[in-house]
Amino acid sequence: MRESKGYSLQSKFSHIYIEQKALSYPVTRHILEHFPRSVKVVIQHYKDVFNRPHQNFRRQKDSPKLILAVKEEPFFYQGPEICEDFGNKNFYYTSCILNCLYDCHYCYLQGLYTSANIVIFVNIEDFFKAVGKLLEHESLYLCVSYDTDLLAFEGIVPYASRWIDFASSKQNLSIELRTRSVNYEAIRGLKPAEQVILAWSLSPQEVAQRYESLAPSLEARLLAVKAAVEDGWKVRLCFEPILKMQGWQEIYSEFLNNVFATIPAEGIFDANIGVFRMNREQFKRISRFRMDTDVFVYPMMCSEEGIMSYVEEKEMKDFIRQKLVRYLPEHKIYG
Ligand code: SF4
Repeated sequence: MRESKGYSLQSKFSHIYIEQKALSYPVTRHILEHFPRSVKVVIQHYKDVFNRPHQNFRRQKDSPKLILAVKEEPFFYQGPEICEDFGNKNFYYTSCILNCLYDCHYCYLQGLYTSANIVIFVNIEDFFKAVGKLLEHESLYLCVSYDTDLLAFEGIVPYASRWIDFASSKQNLSIELRTRSVNYEAIRGLKPAEQVILAWSLSPQEVAQRYESLAPSLEARLLAVKAAVEDGWKVRLCFEPILKMQGWQEIYSEFLNNVFATIPAEGIFDANIGVFRMNREQFKRISRFRMDTDVFVYPMMCSEEGIMSYVEEKEMKDFIRQKLVRYLPEHKIYG
């Protein structure tokens, strides 16, 4: 199964910036082999390029550059309130890649970073060491595809596989690998592990087509999900973000029917529902330059915690939940 709107990887990154100290890492060499034609520029620190002032995120998104860097501590962070913890106590996330190959209109990353260039931290072993150390004292629920879509990068750097291998060897670790990718084939050879949850973000095709630029179609994602369920993985369905659009009730009803016509509901580990929401500052920043989409034009309210969402957030969530309980038991539905 391949990405439906695949990338010609070799022609993707015209320039690759490499931190001096990243040059000697095997991951660096592995990545560079994919891009013999790219111009290589050695830099002192990735932030010299990534955090440069006066960058244009939208323009960079059309032709992102790659930055290979060595991450310094911290290697993981406490999970934010805005994200679902699925009942897990020690919820953390980690980002060994910053930014994404896809270009969803609603993506918070465009409000978080000033650059659309992609940073890959090549010292993955240091991430494992840091997580391993924490695991000596406590169990952990770790989202490893955060601030990126890790599986979409698997053809460039096999970090999804590396995390699955790492988690498989730990008893008190549970990882979530969230994706919109259909790159399942790239990890299919691995043994499904109790510690690993493969989580697919699903949207109606109308939403995917209109707002999830460069991401695979719903149909392709469903086929990837189906294959993963059949192979015995723990599979999570993420109905998030639920977006408002003309006729959303019919669109989402039909969508859920379609999802469970393809995927056996009894094979699903759990699911979550999340209506579109975003930190106020990021929302303000993004809505100022995303005049090309109607994602940010609907009436919104802001919670005391500074989270923006639709005025009808509760109504929308209840609506989806009502439809979802036809297929999944209540205790498997979060959000
Ligand atoms: S897949 Fe996720 S990280 Fe990538 S652009 Fe879409 S919302 Fe952002």
